[in-house]
Amino acid sequence: VHPVYAQMERTVFDRMSVLARETGAINLGQGFPDGPGPAPVIEAAVRALREKSNQYPPGAGLPELREAVCGYYARRQGLEVDPQDVTVTSGATEAIAASLLALVRPGDEVVLFQPAYDAYAPMVLRAGGVPVSVPLVPPHFRYEISAIEAVLTERTRLLILNDPLNPAGTVASEEALGAIARLCVERDLIAICDEVWEEVRFDAKRHRSLMQFDGMAERCVKIGSAGKIFGVTGWKIGWMIGRGDVGLGLARAHQFLTYASAPPLQWAVAEGLTLPDAMLDDQRAAWAASRARLMAGLDRAGFAVLPNQATWFLCVDLAASGLPIRDRDFSERAIREAGVATIPVSALYEGEGRPEHIVRFCFTKPDAILDEAVARLAAFR
Ligand code: GLN
Repeated sequence: VHPVYAQMERTVFDRMSVLARETGAINLGQGFPDGPGPAPVIEAAVRALREKSNQYPPGAGLPELREAVCGYYARRQGLEVDPQDVTVTSGATEAIAASLLALVRPGDEVVLFQPAYDAYAPMVLRAGGVPVSVPLVPPHFRYEISAIEAVLTERTRLLILNDPLNPAGTVASEEALGAIARLCVERDLIAICDEVWEEVRFDAKRHRSLMQFDGMAERCVKIGSAGKIFGVTGWKIGWMIGRGDVGLGLARAHQFLTYASAPPLQWAVAEGLTLPDAMLDDQRAAWAASRARLMAGLDRAGFAVLPNQATWFLCVDLAASGLPIRDRDFSERAIREAGVATIPVSALYEGEGRPEHIVRFCFTKPDAILDEAVARLAAFR
């Protein structure tokens, strides 16, 4: 076994979900909405399964989906993308892996912000790169340009930016994005932009892709996820967008990773992306209502909830809630003793000095489940 995997624990997301299934706990850990997904998108998948081909689609993705992705970005974000530059992947996680395999050369340093999706660092290492961390500090998780500059060296080649940011639930400011873009241009860096939460924003918060900033179109990989946009996380349909040589590298890496993804689901996502915006807006309103319900419930139960602008998650500050317990211990005890699964945020930081007082709760659940979870947590704390 490669040394990267030899010492590795199972990812916290899977560990918590398996434990929740085994113990019958309410699963507010791994991020996914309960419920069937938007009916027109589900119906489109059923229709495609019956009426369209179930054989290998083109490796880069169905042309209809690549077109639909471009139409969606033009409509929702004012972003011009050429369908040639879109490669459909088996979820954003494959897109991250393919991007790193394509773009990391031996010994390249890759800047990661923490907290981060736990897939990033191992994939950087496996691609032959060196992860370099820039911690973001709760509760605001702001990008400090001087902290990024401080870790850049001659060998820095890439940075991975997840905006909106999971697990923090924050959205980078226009100023921060502009400054990161300038840094990428000045230091000749490529940015892998994991923007899977682009549609999951609240309170009229806008999404601005790093790709839209001056000089960035050529030096960005923009990653998107149908699982997040439509709340169908098990479908594992995503995409990555890159221009010129970067795009070519992505396509080459993808062809020998998964080659292609299930065509009925690609058809359904293509159709979903062309439906009227009302569907996405209604879905966002429903998620916002769930967010408000869990926020109010946790607040009533005496938990200090951090500000949230995006994602399906609320973070609770245990220390500020008067609970002097490490997040990992809280999560272990909450799942076994209260029957509620959560994610300890320290699992998404690497190394020394990480915060150990923040726990993440997924709120995209029916009201009755959220109410029951709050009741259990209130009795438990
Ligand atoms: N993004 C998901 C979450 O934060 C995890 C993804 C996964 O488990 N593959 O819950």
